[in-house]
Amino acid sequence: MKINETNLKFGSLSNRGSTSRIILHHAEATSCTPEQIHQWHLANGWSGAGYHFLVRKDGAVYALRPEWAVGAHAQGANSDSIGVCFEGRYQTEEMPQPQIDAGRELVAYLKGKYGLSKVQRHKDVGSTDCPGKNFPFEDITAAATAATSPSNPAGSKPAAATAKPAAKGDAWVRSLQTECNAQGFSKQTVDGIAGPNTLAGCPTLRKGANGNITKLMQQRLVALGYSLAPYGADGSFGDVTLAAVKKFQKARDLTADGIVGQNTWRELLGL
Ligand SMILES: [Zn+2]
Repeated sequence: MKINETNLKFGSLSNRGSTSRIILHHAEATSCTPEQIHQWHLANGWSGAGYHFLVRKDGAVYALRPEWAVGAHAQGANSDSIGVCFEGRYQTEEMPQPQIDAGRELVAYLKGKYGLSKVQRHKDVGSTDCPGKNFPFEDITAAATAATSPSNPAGSKPAAATAKPAAKGDAWVRSLQTECNAQGFSKQTVDGIAGPNTLAGCPTLRKGANGNITKLMQQRLVALGYSLAPYGADGSFGDVTLAAVKKFQKARDLTADGIVGQNTWRELLGL
């Protein structure tokens, strides 16, 4: 478990007497750094960042408030909890896979370290919609080993990852198919499975493009590990997106022209 240190300067902190649970949050910001969170919370008059950890969209994990200190993240529940914040706005956004994986790993690490099993969402302990309705709570709290465990020998209890009902197709592909149909680029079956019709329905995107298809393209880049900081997947194809597209194209041996045409879409779709 790699946890990146930060160099944040805190005001007075007090020692947390017990640690019996982990509470998960979203930042309610599409993109944010450890330093920004620290500044926001200092501006609230707090001693500094109220969360103990930040999990960014690219899967990087940062230490914020010292782990031994009482946090400032869930009123009435700070005295015995560790607060973990996820970059993003998960009332509306979809969490990229690297962030889900890193969150799952961090939660498993903290559970083991403190010998605890209780993981809650902020909204489980207070009146808030944090961490948002799209927050993949089950995925993050599933055993970290489930995703990588070998297939089950016959007759054994199925692992958590295989026990949960398999979503049909891929959620991102489904969103893309829906949007391409809605915008008139295709009339394809929305099944979450990328195929030739999906590819044919993807319009060419270039700098200056705006909207939901651009946003989906950006989400895919982020999920594949290409940072769009500081804007994130905002649906607007600007210079940051252009640079990320070129980097992606170069990595896939495509002409790095920054134009998302059929060849680039084919790679994004994994065809
Ligand atoms: Zn929260």
